[in-house]
Amino acid sequence: MDKILEAVMMSPHSKVVKQGMVRRVVESAAQPLDGSQCRAMFHVSTRLFLLGESQFKRDAGREVLEAFARHHRPQFEEFFEVRFVLGLLRNGYPPVGRRSPQIFLYLEMGLRCLADAPSAPDLFHLLQIEVLRIVCERPGPELCEQLSRLLSRCPRCVPSGNLQTVFCQQLIQTIRLFQCQSQQDDDIVVFLERVTKTSGMLQTVWRANVAAILPSLKELFIVISTPGEVPSNALASVVQYVPLELMEGAVRNLTNDKNISDAQMLTAICRMIDWLSWPFTKNTDKWAIALMKGVAVVKKCVILIEVTLAKIEEVFAKLFYPIVREGALSVLSYLLLSFQQSPEAFHLLLPQIPPLVSCLSAEGSDSAQQCLRQLVELAHCLLFRFTGFPDLYQPVLEVIKDFPSPSEERVKQVLSEGAWTAQRADQVSLCHRLTPKSETGKTGLVNLGNTCYMNSVIQALFMASDFRLAVMALKNCDLLPLMGKLQRLFAFLEHSQRPAISPDTFLAASTPDWFNPGSQQDCSEYLKYLLDRLHEEEKKSSQKVRGQPENQAGDTLIKRMFGGKMVTRIRCLRCQNVSQKEEAFSDLSLAFPPPNHRRDGSFILSPSPALAEGAEPRGTSPSRPERQEERGVRVIKVETVGSLDQATNKGFGGAPLPAWAPPERPNSPASLSVPDLINFFLTPEMLTGDNKYRCQRCSSLQNAEKVVEVTEGPHYLILTLLRFSFSLTTMRRRKILDNVSIPLVLKVPVRLPSRGPESVGAREVGSGPEVEREGSAYVSLTYDLASVVVHSGLSSESGHYYCYARECDGSEKPPGGGARESGWDDPAWATPAGGAEGTQWYLFNDTRVSYSSFEAVGNVTAHFPKDTAYVTLYQLRPTHRAEPGDCRVVATEELHGSEPLERELVEAIAKDNTLHLQEQERGVRHRAALSPSAAEPPVWLKDPRRRERWLMPESGTEEDKMAGCWEQVGVPAL
Ligand SMILES: [Zn+2]
Repeated sequence: MDKILEAVMMSPHSKVVKQGMVRRVVESAAQPLDGSQCRAMFHVSTRLFLLGESQFKRDAGREVLEAFARHHRPQFEEFFEVRFVLGLLRNGYPPVGRRSPQIFLYLEMGLRCLADAPSAPDLFHLLQIEVLRIVCERPGPELCEQLSRLLSRCPRCVPSGNLQTVFCQQLIQTIRLFQCQSQQDDDIVVFLERVTKTSGMLQTVWRANVAAILPSLKELFIVISTPGEVPSNALASVVQYVPLELMEGAVRNLTNDKNISDAQMLTAICRMIDWLSWPFTKNTDKWAIALMKGVAVVKKCVILIEVTLAKIEEVFAKLFYPIVREGALSVLSYLLLSFQQSPEAFHLLLPQIPPLVSCLSAEGSDSAQQCLRQLVELAHCLLFRFTGFPDLYQPVLEVIKDFPSPSEERVKQVLSEGAWTAQRADQVSLCHRLTPKSETGKTGLVNLGNTCYMNSVIQALFMASDFRLAVMALKNCDLLPLMGKLQRLFAFLEHSQRPAISPDTFLAASTPDWFNPGSQQDCSEYLKYLLDRLHEEEKKSSQKVRGQPENQAGDTLIKRMFGGKMVTRIRCLRCQNVSQKEEAFSDLSLAFPPPNHRRDGSFILSPSPALAEGAEPRGTSPSRPERQEERGVRVIKVETVGSLDQATNKGFGGAPLPAWAPPERPNSPASLSVPDLINFFLTPEMLTGDNKYRCQRCSSLQNAEKVVEVTEGPHYLILTLLRFSFSLTTMRRRKILDNVSIPLVLKVPVRLPSRGPESVGAREVGSGPEVEREGSAYVSLTYDLASVVVHSGLSSESGHYYCYARECDGSEKPPGGGARESGWDDPAWATPAGGAEGTQWYLFNDTRVSYSSFEAVGNVTAHFPKDTAYVTLYQLRPTHRAEPGDCRVVATEELHGSEPLERELVEAIAKDNTLHLQEQERGVRHRAALSPSAAEPPVWLKDPRRRERWLMPESGTEEDKMAGCWEQVGVPAL
């Protein structure tokens, strides 16, 4: 029969005839044959199968062999025995080489025939070892494809047990060398398919044995972290098969592995980023980002800086290609948003943004649209983060201007989540002692030795956003050294990535000569001194620059922000002559009414002889508008919306707005509120007895009445509670510890410019913003509480200061908008004023910044009796700013735009942020070196077999490695 088959094949018959003859031979396979005949058939058909010069001959050989093997299994088992198979694998079937695809097809057929034969276990064991040997020979993609096919058809050839891990590792080493030799599209497609099949073998093993995954990943990391020869990007195809659940643990092991040098980590991350150009694979972006986040968590930010600067342009360039766009975009977002300490990375991309935007717009696909949206948001975030480069940013602004821009809240949120300093460190044991930047995103101030008086004032000023923005927007502070330092301090508070910064330069420049270094000071005194210095500095500088007379140069930033005016009028009670003097003020110092002036939670004025006659009893309730009809003098009371006794005061708008109400303390003096103190401040004072007034007209000392009125409300109203009084009996400054309730919203009567000379008279604010009578009018200005500096202790020269503050961003419009002034009785007022309490409160306590609330502000004294509100800052409601007479404030509205910082300042902050990251990193390394637990190797290095000897490429030739491999797996060389 074997001779017949040979003769048929050699015959000149047509293919159809030959096919008929082959069929006959196949059919004859069922007939009994002796051993030698069988062997002859196997030999002939094997030769045809392997050496046939046409596909027809090879197929014929295969058909015949399969048929005879099936019908004569014991004989075939004898023929297809271990030594024969090994010979094929080691020597091929000359002239067919041992790595010919045909050999694999032949083996596959033979193995399938003998799958349940007694000799099968030996055969498969041999194949398992030989498969591993083949992989150790670093076959090309084509042979790997054959191997993959063999393993999928004959799963028992997949290395098992100890061999599995080694097989995976060797396969990774094999893929490392894959290169596509051709640039032709078709060839590339074939190459990609072969790579996919090759890495699919890993998936086969990993599915069967999860324990093989981590050692495989370790091998992968070794390959990509070894500097020198660049491994093939085909390795990217491997990660798609790694379950994402393993990512966190794998990354943690890597980032805490002391044996991995920074250079290796850097190389590895760069190469993972290179994988983004590998198409059709999943999760490469996720792994790259996870590894970078892990590195950020252990504060090795220098690596990330290098990676970002080296790779960001390449990643960006990939956005032009739809096939790799998605992964590239997510990595780009990560790189850009994490690189917040300096604009360098963002600036590298600027020239490429306009071409990309036009390319994506032209493409019009969903992928392009989504990419555009994300890109525009990214650009907005970074333009917000890094101001000060208008020339560079103009082309980008031009191309993104037609796209919707994200809200400021969204921008801030994206930025705060992105920064390296925001990466969660909670699961990394090495980092638990690091102080991350406060979760509030606010920066603290280092206490330089009893400097909390300054720190709390600076934070209050910083949180006064109109003032801060105006200071930050100032240009050319060369002539304003102190303002320049304040600008620098504000810029650092805003942009530093440090949890707290040191205000040492500002301290040195801003403290009065008479302050003893290192000792506690009065924060109010400091604030007044600071504002005065800043005001004088600007005044002098503008005189110098423009040669303007002093009165014109006097309108300084400090004046626009904090400056108000008040008029003091003194009426001689004999001749009724009124003298008046207008003064500017930057804060109101509010004295406490003496105890005998108080009753039932308020104060009463002691009846003065001059006023007693014909006068109504006055002041029974400070919150009720009181008219003092006598001689045209009326007292305008400050009202508070929401003060504690507001609820009973229907005359002023019904239910209270939220305000802190001090807890009822029986047997304690009735509590006061800030409006009480202002009312006391504005109450006419009788100048009698020793205090008589020298009247010009009478030319003698006379009883007189003194009235103080605010004539111009400042944009920021600073109120200092005069808690420190000098006691003549003890010869010491004594602190008044009385709790003073602080309303969230305060209304202050401001007298409009008078129309006539005899206009001392007044009346309360009525139903309109402006009420005229007798030639004069008052307007009631609404102020929102912005910050409260609390003094803790018993004297101003000791104790501690801290500051509660929030940003009144001008969005706090009451319900009903413009109807506010007429809305005294509008029930809408009973609800919080459009979020007046909605903005976040912070507690600034030197280096510590934490979230707080208005409730906490109000309760502080109740909880800590020595901690009392001392200086409060109120901000004028935005709608007042457009009113006539308030135009000086309108100007500041324009400053709300994001005025860029001076470039020099941006660079200084970037430099300091980088320095901070380096310091943190050094700190981590130092602690890691000291910490015994850190010396423990990660799980996957605890493998006692120390495979590294042959896994590391520099440790010998491929042959050496293979020899080592056999030793390791305990398989004798055949
Ligand atoms: Zn007089």
